[in-house]
Amino acid sequence: MNFQNAPRTSPSAHIVLIGAGHAHVEVLRRFRAQPRPDIHVTIVSKFPYAAYSGMVPGYVAGYYEASEPFISISRLADFERCDMVIGEAVDFDADARRVTLSNGQQIAGDIVSIDVGAVTDASGAPRIRGLTIPVKPIDLFMQRWPEVLKRLQEHPRSSVAVVGAGAAGVELVLALEHRLAGLRQVGLVDSKSKIFLIERSDEILLGYPMSVRTRLLRILSSRNIAVLTGFAGFDDKSLHCEFDILLWAAGVRPAEWLARSRLAVDRAGFIAVDRYLQSTSHQGVFAAGDAAGMIESPRAKSGVMAVRQGPLLAENLSRAATGSPLLPFSPQATWLSLISAGGRYAVASRGNWSAEGRWVWYWKKWLDTSFVRRYMVW
Ligand SMILES: Cc1cc2nc3c(=O)[nH]c(=O)nc-3n(C[C@H](O)[C@H](O)[C@H](O)COP(=O)(O)OP(=O)(O)OC[C@H]3O[C@@H](n4cnc5c(N)ncnc54)[C@H](O)[C@@H]3O)c2cc1C
Repeated sequence: MNFQNAPRTSPSAHIVLIGAGHAHVEVLRRFRAQPRPDIHVTIVSKFPYAAYSGMVPGYVAGYYEASEPFISISRLADFERCDMVIGEAVDFDADARRVTLSNGQQIAGDIVSIDVGAVTDASGAPRIRGLTIPVKPIDLFMQRWPEVLKRLQEHPRSSVAVVGAGAAGVELVLALEHRLAGLRQVGLVDSKSKIFLIERSDEILLGYPMSVRTRLLRILSSRNIAVLTGFAGFDDKSLHCEFDILLWAAGVRPAEWLARSRLAVDRAGFIAVDRYLQSTSHQGVFAAGDAAGMIESPRAKSGVMAVRQGPLLAENLSRAATGSPLLPFSPQATWLSLISAGGRYAVASRGNWSAEGRWVWYWKKWLDTSFVRRYMVW
């Protein structure tokens, strides 16, 4: 569905961006680089900064300072005809294109775009006496990470499990092992502390080629990480171990408030968007990143996809503001995946090709830091 029949939005259209996800930072960068006198932008963001997921495992491993994986949204949004509202969206009325924040403030736009990511579905997490931390939202995970280090230092024999062996879970467990090895060396953690990677399916890294799984299983085993696949759930009596820390990286679900919005959703409950990244039910409402489900060409949720959507989303928001025809987004079938493996080591893959080594880690570091640098403004 195209936007041309949508309500009049000129001469001065108000575009409301909800969430400072990976696609929206690019939208902001583009509007900042070429401000449009006929467009007013408002960005609603929970925090004045946004975490870049690609660098989170490096932060856990101890390679990045706490500030490094963050993009300053308040600086990026500091340009004429842009307002930034720090607040949490708790409701969205798609018919009125109006968002409600937790403090009751309501903001309506001629055009609204939603890039709020997804949240970890930790509904299957057991009650444990220690910590259970969902990895998403990432900014909250980063805020809580110091609790993990504190607990490991206070309870040196803690056993830690990362639940969910997708790319994020595998990266996290290897990063954690690297951090623990460092703490062990300085005597802060007992050498008996154990690390587990727990996965419900029979395989780790579902969707990745066999060569990548084989490489990472070998690396996990060389780091003494116990991989429990085919895990039936925490009621499983066959599991005779107790965990002190659970990092929950298994599965994502949409934010609950989206379900009340009247937007059409895909099977998993994410906002259904067409090839223009526009809601299939509501013209003038766009969505990108993990929050969106591309109905015509579904893809696994990833930061790469959110980043790729950014330029097209910016263009289509502009076009929607002036009633011009929208452009289609053509997602790639395969893309480069770089999985960091704890120390300065990583595994690369694209399609059936894969490789590993220290050079892959430096390649990933270069790509990740370049990404964040692109959004640094003073
Ligand atoms: C540890 C880890 C490592 C990963 N590494 C990679 C990787 O190397 N490569 C890759 O492709 N993918 C990776 N991913 C996946 C990647 O994190 C996500 O796919 C990506 O972040 C999705 O981007 P997004 O734009 O949808 O939203 P997000 O990056 O999740 O950003 C959403 C933003 O919206 C804000 N927000 C949320 N709710 C609200 C609200 N109600 N009101 C206002 N603001 C709100 C949040 O604060 C946040 O700033 C990784 C994930 C994890 C957990």
